[in-house]
Amino acid sequence: MFDNLSDKLDKALHVLKGHGSITEVNVAETLKEVRRALLDADVNFKIAKEFTNTVKEKALGQNVLTTLQPGQLMVKLVKDELTQLMGGEAVGMNLQGSPSVILMSGLQGSGKTTFSGKLANFLKTKKSKKPLLVACDIYRPAAINQLQVVGEQIGVEVYAEVGNTDPVAISKNAISHAKANGHNVVIVDTAGRLAVDEAMMTEIANVHKAITPDETLFVVDSMTGQDAVNTAKAFNDRLNFDGVILTKLDGDTRGGAALSIRTVVEKPIKFIGTGEKMDAIDVFYPSRMADRILGMGDVVSLVERAQDQFDEEEARKLQKKIAKNQFGFDDFMKQIQQVKKMGSMKDLVGMIPGAGKALKDVDIDDDAFKGIEAIINSMTLEERTQPAVINGSRKKRIAKGSGTSVQEVNQLLKQFDQMSKMMKMMQGGGGRKMMQMMGK
Ligand code: GDP
Repeated sequence: MFDNLSDKLDKALHVLKGHGSITEVNVAETLKEVRRALLDADVNFKIAKEFTNTVKEKALGQNVLTTLQPGQLMVKLVKDELTQLMGGEAVGMNLQGSPSVILMSGLQGSGKTTFSGKLANFLKTKKSKKPLLVACDIYRPAAINQLQVVGEQIGVEVYAEVGNTDPVAISKNAISHAKANGHNVVIVDTAGRLAVDEAMMTEIANVHKAITPDETLFVVDSMTGQDAVNTAKAFNDRLNFDGVILTKLDGDTRGGAALSIRTVVEKPIKFIGTGEKMDAIDVFYPSRMADRILGMGDVVSLVERAQDQFDEEEARKLQKKIAKNQFGFDDFMKQIQQVKKMGSMKDLVGMIPGAGKALKDVDIDDDAFKGIEAIINSMTLEERTQPAVINGSRKKRIAKGSGTSVQEVNQLLKQFDQMSKMMKMMQGGGGRKMMQMMGK
């Protein structure tokens, strides 16, 4: 996510970070590099210029040169400005209507249908809503089909009228259907074209007028360059939309154009899409994203994701087991599965302060656990609960069964042993202290 920008900003700020004392010359030099990094990431020229001018003014105003840690202060100023560029505070959605109506707009291929599904899933699982998805792409039968597949996957009803070619009528009927069937959110997925054209704009403007949505969202593929800004402008001129959705941020995107949208149309980015799966959706927090771009990690999101997976009952059972020295490989396996549910490894590592940068060239494989799981799967129940019984011949059998080597089995046993010891230690108050340190 914004890897390139992140990299270049890090290089630009590196000089200052290391210096005990800095001069006006290297502040100017650094800001020039910062501007170059923004331009390289496709941030609009004017915005990049304003960005560095503001940082410079603030730096001079705060007398950066005379502070104790000028480098740190500069990093903070850049971080604050980056947060501003991305919108300052996070802005939620208006879900007041009954039902609340959400209209999706954007070009074909931007990720509208996928995002409609993700949003429905998010509202259903996180906000206890009962959404209805509406297929309004009357030109491509495949689009209706695609939405139906998505709906089935997440267990959300899809409203479609095959053969009806009037999106205004379909969306109105859908809202009546929602009211009659207790749906409290209606998400209308519309037809997109490959480029902005008058017919499409008129069509979506008509739907917009007819259903007066509580939220009109503009979906944009963050891989598109400066065109994204023009497209956003065109849609905003017609729809005066409420928020922007940046999709495909998981890819190798420069992303700067998408960031410029916020300033150009003055509308907040509300969500980001980070993958093709239905749970690859995140609420957009400008400050957390700025932290991530500057390699400061995003501990808050990491803890939130962990909390999402956290099962108090299970945790209590586990604690008891650890206390009694009964933590076994089965429990270990459960832990691995929980971590896997939190997201891709690369994504998780990116949230740990410093780790994302340090490990950016390391190929973090989501299959990293595969070998471990195979080894554990090849153990008998006795071996899983009492690893001490695993002797030489058992190791050979386990290695053979899991398609690994005795060394790998040994390594896992050793790691497991160390981990068990550490867990035991953390039980003695250390764990609580650690959580306190993390502000929990
Ligand atoms: P629509 O034409 O605007 O409805 O776009 P689709 O929802 O059909 O998405 C177009 C393509 O982009 C599909 O192949 C999706 O799987 C893919 N896609 C959508 N969102 C994301 C995302 O956040 N990350 C990635 N990697 N792919 C996405």
